[in-house]
Amino acid sequence: MKLVPISALIAHDYCECQIILRYIRKIRAWTPKIEKGISVHKTLENNFLKQADTAGTIEEIIIRAEKENRTFITRELFVKSKEDKLIGKIDQVQIHPDKITIMDDKPNLYESSKLQLTGYCIALSAMYYLKKDIFAAVRDRDTGTIMWEEKFNKDSDLTAKVRANIQRILDLASGKATPIPTKNEVKCKACSYFDCCTYKNI
Ligand code: SF4
Repeated sequence: MKLVPISALIAHDYCECQIILRYIRKIRAWTPKIEKGISVHKTLENNFLKQADTAGTIEEIIIRAEKENRTFITRELFVKSKEDKLIGKIDQVQIHPDKITIMDDKPNLYESSKLQLTGYCIALSAMYYLKKDIFAAVRDRDTGTIMWEEKFNKDSDLTAKVRANIQRILDLASGKATPIPTKNEVKCKACSYFDCCTYKNI
């Protein structure tokens, strides 16, 4: 692994053994919860495509947002930063006249979502020279309520944590570090890798 998939930040935060099971042993986990997540994602994507008006590059859309004083939304935006060792696809980027918001729809708010969104902010700001503030936000998938929103700060504790986790994931993937299984039995019992995990202590 040379670049860390940004979604791996979520798996790592849950339990770092998932990094080996998912990205090294390439085991695909499948649970009703994952299936529901994919189905909701597809619905959001289809609804978006019906009303999309986002032809052009990010830079062009930023200019349009300012000129027309309106907000544009792009989905599935590919981001990659060799320098930050990150790669991924952002679910939704809202380009407002005065700011950019990376939005993620989730059923709950966990620390892992904040890490993932901060990873997107790092990669997006590395890829484009954006003269606007970037915000990260988590929206309740069912009610549409914003559960968390924060302005991206490249020097924040959250950003530092993401950078440390990226390095840890790379070390785990290369075999330089040994994964430490979670001690939280509840997490193990709910883990999509429970049946095939060779690390669990229960
Ligand atoms: S079963 Fe437990 S130890 Fe194994 S990956 Fe899942 S949470 Fe980690």
